[in-house]
Amino acid sequence: MNMYWHRCQRWVPRNYCSVGKCGEVGEGWTSQAATLHSQGMDLTRFSAVLLDLDGTIYHDEHPLPEAIAFVHRLQRRGQKFACLTNGNSSPSRYQRRLARMGVKMDAGHIYSAAAAAADYVLLHARRGRMPRVYNLAGRGAKELLDGKVVWVSGADQKCDVVVCGTMNDVFATAPRRLIALQLLRHGAMLLGMCADRIFPSKNGIVFGSGAFAHFMGYAADVTPIFTGKPEAIFFQELCARLKVRPRQCVLIGDNLESDIAGAKRLGMATVLTLTGITGRQRLAKTTPETRPDQVVENLGQLT
Ligand SMILES: [Mg+2]
Repeated sequence: MNMYWHRCQRWVPRNYCSVGKCGEVGEGWTSQAATLHSQGMDLTRFSAVLLDLDGTIYHDEHPLPEAIAFVHRLQRRGQKFACLTNGNSSPSRYQRRLARMGVKMDAGHIYSAAAAAADYVLLHARRGRMPRVYNLAGRGAKELLDGKVVWVSGADQKCDVVVCGTMNDVFATAPRRLIALQLLRHGAMLLGMCADRIFPSKNGIVFGSGAFAHFMGYAADVTPIFTGKPEAIFFQELCARLKVRPRQCVLIGDNLESDIAGAKRLGMATVLTLTGITGRQRLAKTTPETRPDQVVENLGQLT
């Protein structure tokens, strides 16, 4: 049966939400909003295409409708593009996931919130010594920073920055949270991966990196800094890697806040796909700040 990922967080038959949680007929297939904004955008006029991953290209290990063929078309055309995610794994992990779906690309074409956090740590390191970092995140931060920082292991050590991921991350155990709290109270910077309040998982909606960073920040009375989407620093670094200006780019994503609003603030053109977190009801409430230039039901409409 032809299945697709529905925003009520289940794989369902293409034209019907069998779960009935949201009571909607298949997401977007007859969407008025999609029809209103679906006039074709010529992607070849942009210097680069920025493609969100989760909810746009895949969900977990499942490619979304038409997404893989779309990436292959970009590759065949030779157009510059990059993939982006607010995930807290290293780009090489996303590279391997894409390879399992039949998409081969260099890890340098993938930028994650973990990579943005690592870049921030290294960019703001004091000259002459490695930054002292406490990992309250996952293996992504460790992979990206190993050998480039001094890892802090105890509350009595000097620490420049606490890198914070989600509550479920392997290095965010209860004892480690208490150590991080002490380090923050003694002056360490709190660096969150991204400001997402929640994110969809196999088990439904769970707390996002933003929720955890604010939890830690509130306790320690410090304000977290975020480097993932929709922060300008995230998109600017990605554009710098691609050697393009933000205004010459089009961003394609499924999230009105982290994808569309963030890209619009830098002058990018934007396309919203209804394969992910944004449904028709949410789309109907867009403000000028989050209104995409085009809405599609899936990437197959972007030929
Ligand atoms: Mg997404």
